[in-house]
Amino acid sequence: MTINTEIAVVGAGAAGLAAARELRLLGVPHIVLEAKPVIGGRTVCDEATFGFPYDLGGFWISNDGDNFLLEAARNLGFDTSDQTFPGPEMPMLLGERWETQDENSARLAFNDAAMTAIGSFDPSAPDRSIAEVAGTTSSWFPILASWIAMLNGLPMERTSAVDQANLLHGETVHQVREGMGRLMQAWADVSDVMVNTPVRALDWNDRGIELDLGHDVVAAKAVILTASVGVLASDTIHYASPMPSRTREALACLPMGVVNRIAIQFDDDVFGETCPPTFGRFVSEDDHIYIMTRLVGENVALGYVGNKLALNLEQQSDDVAVELLCDALALGIGADVRDRVIASLCTRWGSDPWTLGSYAAAETGGAWARAALQEPWGNRLFLAGEATSLTQFSLVHGAASEGMRVARAASSVL
Ligand SMILES: Cc1cc2nc3c(=O)[nH]c(=O)nc-3n(C[C@H](O)[C@H](O)[C@H](O)COP(=O)(O)OP(=O)(O)OC[C@H]3O[C@@H](n4cnc5c(N)ncnc54)[C@H](O)[C@@H]3O)c2cc1C
Repeated sequence: MTINTEIAVVGAGAAGLAAARELRLLGVPHIVLEAKPVIGGRTVCDEATFGFPYDLGGFWISNDGDNFLLEAARNLGFDTSDQTFPGPEMPMLLGERWETQDENSARLAFNDAAMTAIGSFDPSAPDRSIAEVAGTTSSWFPILASWIAMLNGLPMERTSAVDQANLLHGETVHQVREGMGRLMQAWADVSDVMVNTPVRALDWNDRGIELDLGHDVVAAKAVILTASVGVLASDTIHYASPMPSRTREALACLPMGVVNRIAIQFDDDVFGETCPPTFGRFVSEDDHIYIMTRLVGENVALGYVGNKLALNLEQQSDDVAVELLCDALALGIGADVRDRVIASLCTRWGSDPWTLGSYAAAETGGAWARAALQEPWGNRLFLAGEATSLTQFSLVHGAASEGMRVARAASSVL
């Protein structure tokens, strides 16, 4: 069967949902095709494991001064009051013990200098890695590198300073108590997504675009393609007419980093009086974790891991990741609480076939690639997603803003 439509939106993550919302507001006929059985993409909530909506991906709203989502959340009655975030100032366990006051002062002095150098890097200067800009000789560098790898998913040595300088930084970050996944669904209010509908192949020419769904074909005048750059660069979708070479080169500059969330729920509040709300544990480059306790007021601890460590853990059973978190918690709480665990959930974004990573970071010299991804293919196919944002990449609101921008652009070529 051939389904005819004006615009086909591929993917129902933040960008796809935002595009569909915008097309509805513009009155443009469209359909939304989602490979997974559920909508949300990297803003999906798990509602079953812990008994409250638990975000598997995006969780904080970053208030960079230009984030429509914060106001939207408040208008929709979502609670965004909690600003707890595992920032660089959180206390650190160094191996088996807490850092001393002197160590804390020295680490924070190094962090401040490094983050200031990265934040004030001149984007018109020749690109360097953020590791070079921060300075790698300090003994505190490996800890900073593990924290940034947990945020970006890629090593500092590979991450472009120009790209990071272009990112709008949040003055504050806000947890979405009821779940970012729920917020995106409530805001977009898109009910007619065709789920379990992966697009297998794309054929585009001057007359239009055909999308191969296996049994059915969609014929559209324009397409908004929101698959992650990891998926775009893989052979998940067959491009019957070749992808423009500039897009292909841009994708090579924007690898997907990997960041994962490890969460465990306890039978009661085990955290005690002295365990900090956020803390980190650094043992080595391959053994560290950044933790939040009493997540959204629940008896849940959440650990973040990034880059190589995250990828390694994905290859092993959940028990290994849970053990990493429990080891750190035993030191943070001052008591072993393994026998109090009643549930756990570990993400594997690197192996998820529909994302193939957590979000993209530009390699050194590759900051140009985001703008290149914004160039439509044959004026008919538009890419949108977190990676196409020039200043709000890696973020939910960046992806959604790109979805809205591209919906308007696609509508104008019909
Ligand atoms: C662990 C983690 C923590 C994060 N934390 C934060 C945070 O705190 N704050 C924040 O702002 N951001 C955060 N992010 C980033 C944020 O979640 C993403 O940047 C954003 O959700 C990406 O949206 P998107 O629409 O670009 O892509 P996606 O959400 O990946 O949407 C693309 C959709 O396309 C579908 N798809 C792919 N291929 C096909 C195909 N061939 N056919 C049909 N459908 C297809 C996918 O299934 C997916 O649903 C986090 C991400 C992760 C993974």
